[in-house]
Amino acid sequence: MDRRNIRYLLFSLASAFYVALAFTSADFLMMPFHTLRDIVIVGMQWAVLFVALSFLMLALASHRLLYALIFPPLVLLSSVLAYFRLTMNAVLTPMLLDVTFDNDLRTSADMVTPVLILVVLASTIIAILFARYRWKRIEALRAAIAFLAGCALLCGMLQVDAFERPISERIPFNIYYTAEKYFEEKEALTQERADLSQGAVCRTDSALVVLVIGESLRPDHLSINGYERNTTPRLAKEDVISFPSIYTEQTYTMRSIPHLLTRADSSDYERAYREKSFIHIYNSCGYTSWWLANQEASSTFVSFMHECDTLKSVNIEKSAYTYDKWLDADLLPLFDQALAAPGARKLIILHTIGSHWWYNSHFTPEFAPFQPIVQSRVISSCTDEEIRNSYDNTIVYTDYFLSLLIQRLKPRNAILIYQSDHGEALGENGVYLHAAETPEAHRAACFIYMSPAYQKAHPDVYPNAKRNSRTPYRTDHLFHTMLDAGSIETPYRNESLSLLK
Ligand SMILES: [Zn+2]
Repeated sequence: MDRRNIRYLLFSLASAFYVALAFTSADFLMMPFHTLRDIVIVGMQWAVLFVALSFLMLALASHRLLYALIFPPLVLLSSVLAYFRLTMNAVLTPMLLDVTFDNDLRTSADMVTPVLILVVLASTIIAILFARYRWKRIEALRAAIAFLAGCALLCGMLQVDAFERPISERIPFNIYYTAEKYFEEKEALTQERADLSQGAVCRTDSALVVLVIGESLRPDHLSINGYERNTTPRLAKEDVISFPSIYTEQTYTMRSIPHLLTRADSSDYERAYREKSFIHIYNSCGYTSWWLANQEASSTFVSFMHECDTLKSVNIEKSAYTYDKWLDADLLPLFDQALAAPGARKLIILHTIGSHWWYNSHFTPEFAPFQPIVQSRVISSCTDEEIRNSYDNTIVYTDYFLSLLIQRLKPRNAILIYQSDHGEALGENGVYLHAAETPEAHRAACFIYMSPAYQKAHPDVYPNAKRNSRTPYRTDHLFHTMLDAGSIETPYRNESLSLLK
């Protein structure tokens, strides 16, 4: 091979190595490892990122102007992301971008510390030296071919699902993918949806309706449903009605939540993308509505979040690739604010993180009776017993969190409906987590609490729910159950689907 080509290749690899080592590594250092095998697996994941970066650099380094224009800004952004990943374990999410751009520039400015400035300056100066070297010393003989080859290799790699997801979540590729998600969500907000509020009337003057959207909670692991471990001691003390036989067509959050909130059902899922949700109907009936999020938005349901009068989030810097504590109790201050706000009719929706994998993030040591828990982020390195223990501990924590909500609702005229978005596989037939076609992923926990005042004001509702509790339903019920819970009558309500009729 021509010596000039070899120099171009080596230069591209050196650029990739600089980015992978200095910045991409920040995404891996926080990963919990346990055994030598874990370290090897994580090393291989890092290597996949290095290969993807090498292809990107082959394309960038094909022309000196292209490289000079893109490489230094890419390094600058990567150094900012690596800094926040290492100091705060924060990752770039669309919600974080939203806060940075739209909402609170002053808070964003407070995050700029002298150390951050130094890190960014040093990283960018090195990048400029790279660009200078490329400008003066490297000749790619056929720039167009080199560019196309780099692009083709990278695109080919991204076609493989097993590579795309981990690549898209990590520095520097997450800059592109997060921006794409951010603009998809903005775009989703501009789409017109059918308004179903015509003809809706509310039959009560005062009501507090709370919907808790659960995460990955399967009913057969709750002791209130007969599970042999005591995972729900607090709910067992409350007068909670459980519905253990609810089937969900959708097995992952992005598809399930639009199904839950809209009139979409198993015969017409597309309504989830054509129609507004029950939240809009509540608003039209004089309810004030809140969406309190402990999970990031998605273009598939962001428009429902914005149907609420108030939208607030916690843990906006967390993603499935962060591993420190990420707890549902963080929602409580927002919940208390919503309770204290004026208004006789209120709808409060809490989108919880519940039992999402990396389970250990979602409970604290006081709520970990089942031991040993998982030690490794790599599922194949965990035993089934560890996975079951960690998963069950998330339920003990959810039981605690829900009991705190119930304590607050007990003295009020209130109803709380808990519906998980889907279930979770825990190693049955060798399958783990959700988003897979396993029976366990299709089972979604559901239960309802009514305060004494609510039961008194709606004497039929409690016995109806008790009677229905053993009947199998699909998550199609939620749209209709929610309308009933708020005493809302509309031509779109189907009483045969409501858990409360
Ligand atoms: Zn989910």
